[in-house]
Amino acid sequence: MPELPEVQALVDFLGERTSGLAVVRLELGSISVLKTYQPAPTALDGMPIGTVARHGKFIDIEAQGLHLVFHLARAGWLRWSDALPATMIRPGKSPIALRCRLSDGSGFDLTEAGTRKRLAAYIVSNPMEVPGIARLGPDPMAEDFTATDFAALLAGRRTQVKGLLKDQGFLAGVGNAYSDEVLHVARLSPFALASSLDVAEVQRLYAALRGTLAGAVRAASGKPAKELKDAKRAGMRVHGRTGEACPLCGDVVREVSFADSSLQYCATCQTAGKPLADRRMSRLLK
Ligand SMILES: [Zn+2]
Repeated sequence: MPELPEVQALVDFLGERTSGLAVVRLELGSISVLKTYQPAPTALDGMPIGTVARHGKFIDIEAQGLHLVFHLARAGWLRWSDALPATMIRPGKSPIALRCRLSDGSGFDLTEAGTRKRLAAYIVSNPMEVPGIARLGPDPMAEDFTATDFAALLAGRRTQVKGLLKDQGFLAGVGNAYSDEVLHVARLSPFALASSLDVAEVQRLYAALRGTLAGAVRAASGKPAKELKDAKRAGMRVHGRTGEACPLCGDVVREVSFADSSLQYCATCQTAGKPLADRRMSRLLK
């Protein structure tokens, strides 16, 4: 799933490619992808595109005061084409959930792999009408998001930091991959309770959060949409690297698995050398 750095790169990419163009029309490959009824998708026909913006992990394409907003979810992706095929997509017959045709023949498809269809698009006159945007916490890359703000958010939260960092209502844009990376850089256990972090640990976590995301934004910036997934994977130190060596200390990268996700960490760097309990592993050992 694309997170803040990849979504930012997609926004920059789309901003550049759609500059000076208008929407020709939207085609829906899946009716359920569009979560709004009014305005109708045809309301965007012929509208010149203005700005392309990011809200957390949402992409917002504005045209004459209307906003096409979408969220790629876990298995969704954006595929850009300089010359889209002329044939219209047929509902239900294609992995393409939504196609946006632009005035020079280019455009993009939103695709979704897998069976759990969670890709969501909205047409609204104000992005705040999208429930997922209305509930977003602060953006960790915002210039005015300070260490003091971050400390205030964490204070009194008797919640595990890993879960908090991924919670879009707490902080906008970080998901499962970058939360693993941030915690590794900060040398903190994913299961540490936010309220139990001391001042130095909060400071370390803030620096890790901003530094990791800024580095990933730099790495993703300017890359075409199709290269972003691989670039994200290549930049990971522990996330998705179970069994490989920690790049800092050489210990093996360990995993804790849950029903539909897993996290990766280094015990030497993050949990004083003590492996965390893994429910799946302990179930297997019973
Ligand atoms: Zn390590």
